[in-house]
Formats: sequence, C-alpha cells, structure tokens
Amino acid sequence: MKPALVPTPAAGVHLSTGGFEAVVHGLASALSTLAAPDVPRLRTPPVIARQTIEEVGYHESFPHLLGRVFARTDGGALAESDLVLLPAGCYCVYPVHAGERLHGPTEVSVEATCFRQEAHAEPGRLRSFRMREFVRLDTAERCLAWRDDRLAAARDLLAELGLETTSEVASDPFFGRGNRLLRKLQVERELKVELCAEVAPGQRQAVASGNYHTDQFGRLFAITGPDGAVAHTACLAFGYERLALALLHRHGEETGRWPDRVRKTLDLEAPR
Ligand code: ATP
Ligand code: ZN
Repeated sequence: MKPALVPTPAAGVHLSTGGFEAVVHGLASALSTLAAPDVPRLRTPPVIARQTIEEVGYHESFPHLLGRVFARTDGGALAESDLVLLPAGCYCVYPVHAGERLHGPTEVSVEATCFRQEAHAEPGRLRSFRMREFVRLDTAERCLAWRDDRLAAARDLLAELGLETTSEVASDPFFGRGNRLLRKLQVERELKVELCAEVAPGQRQAVASGNYHTDQFGRLFAITGPDGAVAHTACLAFGYERLALALLHRHGEETGRWPDRVRKTLDLEAPR
C-alpha cells in the first residue's frame, strides 16, 4: 500500500498505511538527533488530567479546540470526567517537575498523540495527530538561545530532507477579543516561531514550532532553577503527519524513488 493517510467517516481523523508509518518512524529517529542521546524520553497517552489543562488555562485560551471526555462514573449519570484529550505534548512535562528545584538545565523529549477540534479539515489539518516535542527548563536567556539554536538545527535537518522551510514569527490563535493584546505581545516578543512548508498543493502549514513560554509554567508548577529562581521554559514541536505529508508532496508517493540521501536519513529501504 502506498504511503498515505486514509480518510475515515470523521473529518480530520485518518488511518495511516504501513508506508506512511515507515516515514513517520524515520522522522522519529531523525528528529532524535536534535537532542543529546541521554535526554529522557516520554510517551504520552492521548488524554491528560483535566486539572492540568485548567491550571495552564488552555480551556480559556482555546475553548474551541479542547476535546472533552464524558463518562458514567460508578454507573451514574453521564458527566464530564477528570480527563480531557491531550492538545499538545509539553503539558504532560510540567506536572512531572512540579515543586522541584532543578539541578541544572533540564530537557525532555516527548512523543504525543494530540487532539484539537479544528474548525476546518484541509490536508495537514487533522483533529487527531502526533507531535514530537523537546521541552527545555532553564534560565530565560538559555531557554531563548536553546529555542533559536534548535530551530536552526531543525531547519537544517529539514533542508537535508529536501524541505525548504520559511521561518515565521507567529501567535497562537487566542480566542476572543480580550486576547488581542496578548496576541500582539506574543508577536512583538517573538515568543512563537514556526517553520512552514507546503504539505499539499497550495497548502502551506507549520511543520514545526518553537515556543518560549517565559516563566509562565515555572510559576504555575512552582519549578525553580538551582539558584531558587523560577524556571523558564521553551519547547520545540514537530507535527509528524504534516512532515510526512510535506515529504510526500516534495518527493512523490514512491518512497523507493526518493533521493538516496533522504532515504538514508529516514532509514527507508532501498528500492528493489
Ligand atoms: P496551526 O497554526 O497550524 O494551527 P499551531 O501553531 O497551533 O498550528 P502548535 O500548537 O505550535 O501549532 O503545534 C505544534 C506542531 O504540531 C505544529 O508546528 C504542527 O506541525 C503540528 N500541528 C498543530 N496542529 C495540527 C493539526 N491540527 N494537525 C496536524 N498537525 C498539527
Ligand atoms: Zn509545547
């Protein structure tokens, strides 16, 4: 079967073929080279404690994207459960370090299954998708430097895979009028930078994003550095499906005919 996303009756929810998974698998290994080999790795479930998502205010900033879980507890009436669908990998990391005084710069790699109730279902905009994230907890200066350095390394890696990306300062699509100022502030301070590529004809999307969160999560989860100062955080996130789609769009659906260098980096089988 050709590497592809297979549609299901639910918009933005797809099955993936073995060939597509081989590309995702190759991407997972290639992206691992962006972190030191000893960086701890976490795999998330598709759900997260509702309490965590409420603590970080996601339910207020992105109420339109959040997937809620309803269940009958103890055979009672249907009610909202203590879980929500995970919207991004890094939210799982901060509670792990809650109340901690870090020994020094801390980095974690996260593989996440995410859900967002996207309003549109164009190619590359899925409701259920996978994300790879690297999360850094450190000082303000080092978090920013790390984000920019890793974004540059990511851009080089993607170029090696044949993907020419543009780097764009972005803002999260904050919901409601009250958040316009916040959005402006985010752009002015360049808190979010995206690497964009074409994932389908005429369809440019962010395939990676680098975010600097200032001390927002350090404060919320009482995480401090070795000197007792509140920790700052940054994350670098990649969308697996978008990256795989961008590669298929760039090199064609016969992975056996992809350039040698690309096949080698992704550890794809040589053509027979
Ligand atoms: P967009 O602006 O395209 O909605 P975003 O800025 O909200 O994306 P992030 O929250 O930074 O994206 O998510 C990290 C990465 O996850 C993105 O760079 C992208 O590659 C991927 N991603 C985000 N939303 C989706 C989606 N709906 N479908 C597939 N991949 C996604
Ligand atoms: Zn993140």
